[in-house]
Parts: sequence; structure tokens; C-alpha cells
Amino acid sequence: MEIISNPEKVFRKIQGYKLKRKQVGFIPTMGALHEGHLSLIRKARKENDIVVVSIFVNPIQFGQGEDYNAYPRVKNADSAKCKKEKVDMIFYPKARDIYPDGYLTYVEVERLSNCLCGRYREGHFKGVTTVVLKLLNIVHPDTAYFGLKDYQQFIIIRKMVRDLNLNVKIKPMPLIRETDGLAMSSRNKYLDNDQRKEALLLSRSLFSVKKMIQNGEKRAVKLKKEVYRILLSGRLLKKRYIDYISIADPDNLDDLKIIHGHCVILIAVWIGKARLIDNIII
Ligand code: AMP
Repeated sequence: MEIISNPEKVFRKIQGYKLKRKQVGFIPTMGALHEGHLSLIRKARKENDIVVVSIFVNPIQFGQGEDYNAYPRVKNADSAKCKKEKVDMIFYPKARDIYPDGYLTYVEVERLSNCLCGRYREGHFKGVTTVVLKLLNIVHPDTAYFGLKDYQQFIIIRKMVRDLNLNVKIKPMPLIRETDGLAMSSRNKYLDNDQRKEALLLSRSLFSVKKMIQNGEKRAVKLKKEVYRILLSGRLLKKRYIDYISIADPDNLDDLKIIHGHCVILIAVWIGKARLIDNIII
């Protein structure tokens, strides 16, 4: 397994693979790898000749006062996990490799980037789409894998790839949970024991509304009320810590009043220092 930080070197290496008609699969991450990330890597390993993982804590997707500095960075542990999964290359750039002095260019998917998490994290998705576009241009994968844990991010990236005619297949991958239901996230490391217990209310509320929908409830107000009831049944979670609860069209994230076919229920809440997101597709 190679670990390369220089974008030019990655680009040249991959061009070499392409000339040999190798299929390249790519998993962009911010590191602190867990089973959620590994599920993407394993899928890519099955489907490609070459698997490339990028590990880059992208400064421009963090707002002022967010956790850019605190974000876990565990290069050795991540490298060991990638090696075990038979990753061929880790792209491990420094911030100045991606954003050299005088950097000026950004890409933004309008509308989709301003709702839900975008309303609470100004500029976040502009930072995500910019870095993902750059990473795709450096790695040139045939397929890039994205987890549905970050549902809005997936929808935005899929839209960017369509709108900009990028020649890459974007594969959505299922959200991976701990056995007790908590959605896996690098940010779960911020939770102490009590907070971690409280965090289970997120998945519990989503599983409960899934049942209500299966039992015929179609009214979003009723379903949201149930999510609030469960979230606020704990000791730590207060209404002011809930950024949003949304019942939305899974294709375009439009808010739904009545559910006709499929929907996605998305929530974002603060527990202590951790901003947690979760969702369920129905
Ligand atoms: P991150 O390192 O948080 O930027 O995530 C890198 C990729 O892993 C993104 O496509 C995420 O959606 C995906 N991912 C993170 N957590 C999970 C999870 N629990 N299940 C599935 N995919 C995940």
C-alpha cells in the first residue's frame, strides 16, 4: 500500500493504472476510520482493481467555531485499517497541497446546499463540493463511494456530478450503525457515556416513525411530533439543541407534508460538543 501526499504524483500513478485498463474505486474520507468507512472500502475492493482512499480533514468545510482543530486525526491507526482491507493507495494531502496560497476557486450546488445542514453550517457544502470535485479530478476514479449517513451530502454530490458532466459513477452505500442503533461517526468520539446513551434517542426516534409509516400514518406533522417526543424524553436533549427534523422527498430533499411514496427522515441535534446527524429512508 502506498501513502502519497502529492496530488501530481497520485494523478500520474492513476493515469498509469488507467493505461493498463484498471478499474479504480475511490473513497474520500476525513479519517478516524470506523466500520462505516470500512464498508465502503470493502465494497470498492470487491468491485475494482485499484482502491484509493483519501484522508483529508478539509478546512473549508468547517465553519468558524466548528471542530476543525479538534477533529480526530489518527494517521497510523487509519493506515493499518486500510492496509488490512487491501487498499492500494492512501491519498493523504496536506491542506496546502489542496489549497495553495492564492487559492480562489469554489464550486457550489445551489438550493440543495442551503437547506437542512446547509442552513446551520453556512458554506459547509460549498467546501464539500469543492474538495470532492478536486479529489475526483486528482484521482479520476471510475466509481466513487459515498455513505448515506451523510444523506444530503450524497444528494448534493450526485447533483454536482450530473450538472458538471463528470465522468464518474457515484455509488450510495447503506448507513452503518452500532449494534445498539447509533449511526457510526468519527464525531461519536466526542461523547461521554451519558451522552452516548442519550444519542441512542436519534435512531430510536427514526425507527419509531418508520413503524408509524408502515402502520399507515402519512401526515408529516404527526411523524415529526413523535420524533420530538422521543428526542425530548431524555435528560440532556433540549428543544434548543435540535437543529432540524425533516421529512423530505428522497430525490430532491423537498419538505413533505404528506407521504405518498418514499421519504427520508433526517435529523440533526447537538449532544454536548457533538453535532449528530442521522436519517432513515422509507
Ligand atoms: P467522513 O470521514 O465522515 O467524511 O466520511 C467519509 C465517507 O464515509 C462519507 O461518504 C460518509 O458518508 C461515509 N460514512 C461515514 N459514516 C458512515 C456510516 N456510519 N455508514 C456509512 N457510511 C458512512
